[in-house]
Amino acid sequence: MPDEAQPTTKSMDDIMALCKRRGFIYQASEIYGGVNGFWDYGPLGAQLKKNLRDAWWTDVVMKGCNGKPGPDGNPVSIVPLDSSIIQNPKVWEASGHVGGFNDPMVDDKETKQRFRADHLIGVYVSIPFESVEQFQVLQEAGQNIASPEVNVVPDKTIVANSSHEAVELLTDRKLQKLLGIRSFQPFANDTNGMVLGRIDAGSGERICEFRSIPAQTLELHASSVPSPFTGKAGSLTTPRAFNLMFKTVLGATGNAEDNTAYLRPETAQGIFINFKNVVDTTRVSVPFGIAQTGKAFRNEVTPRNFTFRSREFEQMEIEFFCHPDDSKGWYTFWRDWRMQWWQDLGLKGDNLILREHDSDELAHYAKEGAGTADIEYMFPFTAPGYGELEGIADRTNFDLKQHAEHSKTKLDYFDNTRGELAKNGQPKGERYLPHVIEPSAGLDRGVLALICEAFTPDENRPSGVYMKFHPRIAPIKAAVFPLVKKDGMPEIAEPLYNELRNRFGHLGTIEYDVKQSIGKRYARMDEAGCPFCFTIDSDTLTDNTVTVRHRDTLDQERIAIDRVADFLANKLGV
Ligand code: ATP
Repeated sequence: MPDEAQPTTKSMDDIMALCKRRGFIYQASEIYGGVNGFWDYGPLGAQLKKNLRDAWWTDVVMKGCNGKPGPDGNPVSIVPLDSSIIQNPKVWEASGHVGGFNDPMVDDKETKQRFRADHLIGVYVSIPFESVEQFQVLQEAGQNIASPEVNVVPDKTIVANSSHEAVELLTDRKLQKLLGIRSFQPFANDTNGMVLGRIDAGSGERICEFRSIPAQTLELHASSVPSPFTGKAGSLTTPRAFNLMFKTVLGATGNAEDNTAYLRPETAQGIFINFKNVVDTTRVSVPFGIAQTGKAFRNEVTPRNFTFRSREFEQMEIEFFCHPDDSKGWYTFWRDWRMQWWQDLGLKGDNLILREHDSDELAHYAKEGAGTADIEYMFPFTAPGYGELEGIADRTNFDLKQHAEHSKTKLDYFDNTRGELAKNGQPKGERYLPHVIEPSAGLDRGVLALICEAFTPDENRPSGVYMKFHPRIAPIKAAVFPLVKKDGMPEIAEPLYNELRNRFGHLGTIEYDVKQSIGKRYARMDEAGCPFCFTIDSDTLTDNTVTVRHRDTLDQERIAIDRVADFLANKLGV
């Protein structure tokens, strides 16, 4: 078997428990029993989220890709926008969301459960093999391992985000019993990333594969596909469209039909419909981008995996407008820069990948040959697979064209730097609908990836774990601790706390704490991911030095108290 990326050993349950314990993320409406698909960010989570949003805003909008020149060699020009969550409903008709923002859903008539058709994973049981080795030889020789009759309809089904998740779920004895499986043991991933296992589904041990069920199979053979809840065939419906838009009614007296409006399912459309406004009222010229962050709402059928798939979430989107001839160059530029950006915030190594889409994955707006890539992170619940963090897509001129047609407004752009040369040697100009490159990132998924990446179990510390956040996004930048609440130590610590707060408070929290033992205070800061603690002790009283405790190495050093602020500035890179 080929080498696989090492699956992460971090437990999502442990990560979620820490998020609750330390106030990163709470279940929304918890005291009322919660509400599925919604989350609240506690004090640490809210600050972490702000830090990530600010980092994006600073690097993208204020610094224009941190000063990296675009493919044309010029500085990248980006302007900000803050558009409404609710727009004229015609916006969503033009964008295709009202008609087409659908997830095909399947119902199980017997158990009344509903799930996304593309989340139904098939377990295909193969003909028996004497040994795994023999199986591998056949497979490497390119032979089809599944018998012809099981190729069409799977033997068992499971609802999961990926084959890998399905395997994990199937190791649960309760589920096995429900589906009539006597034993199951995963053993490998093949070269295509397909998951294999040994299964006894009633006729002795065989080899099985986990695969997505083709849409056509569900359309044509729904009645033969076994239910993921009972293991029996005959209760599944064919897939039916379910619109993900959240509807609301405008005004107190309006009737629902005439006054229907929608909560935006993406921030992008607010940008497209303001393209003309921005061009007419600012000095931008193509190529340029419009960026905005904000909430988006999708009535996801199966919200799951903590905040990864929520019904309310925040996006950080850029629509970058360029001449059609330049779209390839800009696509590559954005794809690579966005990947680098996430890496610079600490998502490094095998946990982060850039994946170009296959042509059969292209979205409705993307044309054949136009680039689409995902930046994906290996979350503990997707491992050893990956989940999307950000999509970078060449949307061509699809959206501007749609809005121009539906609103009957000219949205083309007159570019006076192009076109044939006139007699005076100046270009005559060219009128065109710009093409758009869209880097669209999820803020909540970004926060979740940073939390998962930072979560570092360590048996040698009292907390048993620490959060290794990059200092730039750490919610608490530093803590000031008087060793004890007497002997004049608080009197020295408080001015230092105030100094740090005044100087760095715009970047995150500065913590001041005198309660409990110093060990317990350090442990709290480890779980909060605070990179530096400054402790005032009895030596401070005589030599004006403090102890600096480094979160990652546990090193302790002494520095002069009047150097603390500069020390922190240096470490935070500000
Ligand atoms: P998915 O395939 O996971 O449903 P998508 O391809 O529909 O995502 P986009 O429409 O490209 O997502 O949205 C851009 C970004 O918004 C995604 O990369 C993701 O980070 C974020 N996002 C999308 N849907 C959700 C959601 N339900 N919960 C949290 N974040 C989301």
